[in-house]
Amino acid sequence: MPTTMSCPQANAKPLSRSPRRAASPQTTSHSKGNRYLSVCLKCLGFLGTDVLFGAKAQDVLYASCKRRVERSLRAVLEEAVRSLAARRDTNQCFELQVTIHAEVLQISVVARKDVLNDRRAQELVNSLLTSLTKPTRLTGETLMLAPDPRIGYHLGSVAAFDKASFALARASLNNPVQSYDARQRQLRLARMRREAEIRDGLRRGEFVSYFQPKIDPRNNKVVGGEALVRWQHPKKGLLMPKEFIGIAEESSLICEISRAVAKQTITLLTQLKQKAKAVPIAINLSEQDLKGPDLIEQLGRQLKRQNLKPELINLEVSERVASMNEEDLSEFMKAVRKAGFSLALDDFGTAYSGLLRLLQLPISEIKVDRLFLIKAAASAQGRSILQNLVCMLLEQKFRVTVEGVEKPRELKILKAMPGCFAQGFYFSPAVDARTFQGLNA
Ligand code: C2E
Ligand code: MG
Ligand code: MG
Repeated sequence: MPTTMSCPQANAKPLSRSPRRAASPQTTSHSKGNRYLSVCLKCLGFLGTDVLFGAKAQDVLYASCKRRVERSLRAVLEEAVRSLAARRDTNQCFELQVTIHAEVLQISVVARKDVLNDRRAQELVNSLLTSLTKPTRLTGETLMLAPDPRIGYHLGSVAAFDKASFALARASLNNPVQSYDARQRQLRLARMRREAEIRDGLRRGEFVSYFQPKIDPRNNKVVGGEALVRWQHPKKGLLMPKEFIGIAEESSLICEISRAVAKQTITLLTQLKQKAKAVPIAINLSEQDLKGPDLIEQLGRQLKRQNLKPELINLEVSERVASMNEEDLSEFMKAVRKAGFSLALDDFGTAYSGLLRLLQLPISEIKVDRLFLIKAAASAQGRSILQNLVCMLLEQKFRVTVEGVEKPRELKILKAMPGCFAQGFYFSPAVDARTFQGLNA
């Protein structure tokens, strides 16, 4: 049953809306002078108790929480009213209602603005958390269960349990209390819409792999290629990876994109082989792709089916690979080794990574980020850094590719460093598969 409390003072004036009506979660009537704190509270520690001890046991646990919650909220609210009455000689009232809806305690507090301000709302929510830190005894059992609460709340001019419930969904172990944030919700909705769009795009086959040639700067010959995905969007035209890779990486969609790219790469390799022009093609992998052997095994099977050698596939991973969990990494490496693919380290030098750990990985190629080339073109010191870096990597028997060659001056710097390869707009941007086949190999 809901609990409605009014001001402790005997001559308390009612709230401007009827004091007899509890602040029902469904209520829409509101008065200008009141604020509404809507709270949704779930006890994660009670999950599963109904299966173990029956639904009644969970009722007992929640009833005990409800009592604690009511007690602590009433204490804070009464104290607030007392302090205001002493200062300004005004009587203030509040209404409190606690109900249970499908394992969620719905708490509604209605009070005048001066009783229920932002600071007090925080205080009330914190008091909830404190009141639930002690374990709860399960009747008839000696079990003491920690409620482990998660709380979502919203303070506004009407009761808004939908907003409190949205905030609750964001609560986590590290941040058990969350307030409603309209901007966050908009961002999440936008992201979900974008994810749905990507999913549709994948279904319609709109993700197309382009290929950028890798060049030997000594003779300008194509010695390989890199698959770079584009989204042929029906309304927005050709979209670059920065428009969708980030969102896809936050879900499993990136793995589907990688599978599409891998398939198109095999098709290109098959066509190149028919023209006796096969060169190794690199595929970019995201962290999610490294979390299981699926993609590698699928690539291996497809290559075999087309009678293509595994040396024709090069996998590009970023420096973040160095911070991956040991177990995932070792399973991935095992699959790569078994399939016979080689690994390249992309964007070398752009992120902090344990160089020693990186060098322990079976990486055969390093792709030096364009930033080094920009610095090299700008100063003698930058040139010396790049030259020494490339020299050290070549000495360590890595294949070295410098990324982002745009200008003749940059190419000149590379030509002074025999043994490294180049990629960049100076030679060619990424082009569609048909154009790539026409390039000079
Ligand atoms: P990346 O793997 O380092 O690829 C090189 C990027 O540099 C490409 O951008 C390429 O178009 C661009 N680039 C090439 N030459 C030049 C140049 O001379 N100057 C400059 N300024 N840029 C140059 P793109 O295609 O926009 O791709 C950006 C990033 O998106 C890639 O960086 C890669 O990290 C990611 N990406 C692209 N395709 C895939 C994919 O299929 N899967 C995954 N997981 N990531 C991908
Ligand atoms: Mg790359
Ligand atoms: Mg790169």
